[in-house]
Amino acid sequence: MRNLYSPTNVKEIFKKYKFNYKKKLGQNFLIDKNINEKIIESASISEDDIVLEIGPGLGNLTQLLCESAKKVISIEIDKDFKKIHDDLLNYDNLEIIYDDFMDIDLRKILNPYDKEKIKVVANLPYYITTPIIMKLLEEKYPVDKIVVMIQKEVAQRFASSPGGKDYGAITLTINYYTEAHYAFTVPPSVFIPQPKVSSAVVVFDVLDKPKYKVYSEEILFKVIKGAFAKRRKTFVNSLSSTFPEFEKEIIVETLKHFGLNKAIRGEKLSLEEYVKISNYLMERIH
Ligand code: SAM
Repeated sequence: MRNLYSPTNVKEIFKKYKFNYKKKLGQNFLIDKNINEKIIESASISEDDIVLEIGPGLGNLTQLLCESAKKVISIEIDKDFKKIHDDLLNYDNLEIIYDDFMDIDLRKILNPYDKEKIKVVANLPYYITTPIIMKLLEEKYPVDKIVVMIQKEVAQRFASSPGGKDYGAITLTINYYTEAHYAFTVPPSVFIPQPKVSSAVVVFDVLDKPKYKVYSEEILFKVIKGAFAKRRKTFVNSLSSTFPEFEKEIIVETLKHFGLNKAIRGEKLSLEEYVKISNYLMERIH
């Protein structure tokens, strides 16, 4: 049976279960039914889908997921929810694991479903949005779609272009592995407690194959992370501190080969340029 919570219900539950929400765990509960339904719609959940949810909290979104998907696996760090979940979430297709998402062995959890369509749907804890998305993408779990509510300004960073102040290593990682789009904005007023910032739902369609052919993904991402580690440095200087084995001249020559200025900074380069540069450098030294 469904127990979708209104603001009054939430306060009653907090009282009954002596639950104190924890700001440090990013606990802002989404209590708007329409927005929860819009999240389900954005993820196009069907009866064939296996859904991984990070942070079910009180379980409003979880319940809608259980009603639309084949199976829901929810990972919740805060064990204080256990009694609430045991009493109020009665779904046979729901499995809740009480652990830190960053520590779990996701491959082991998802392994039984490797022939199925796996989607991640979550209203994320904002203090670890980027590490969660990096874990999902870089460790290459067999996930088809990721639909997450995140801070609006972080959503904008994910969609930013080279040279913009928000452009970063995460933008390039997302660009490499997914087709991303900004779905809709969510105001602070639909949460308890209300966050200070607006939120946004973003949809990432994970590509079967990354957009570009690379010599080595490990090197590509080492180049990207090195270039963004010290934003004030030129690309040449950042790269020569990340790869002391490269002569500076080789790096300068590589940039010249692609018609790029040797004083260029990493944040001005597109994903395609990073791919070309790292492939070219690898071919030269191997
Ligand atoms: N899904 C609920 C909703 O929409 O109302 C709660 C969302 S709340 C923004 C984030 C949830 O993530 C909280 O329940 C919090 O306890 C949980 N959480 C925080 N850090 C976590 C972590 N490292 N691993 C798993 N869950 C975490």
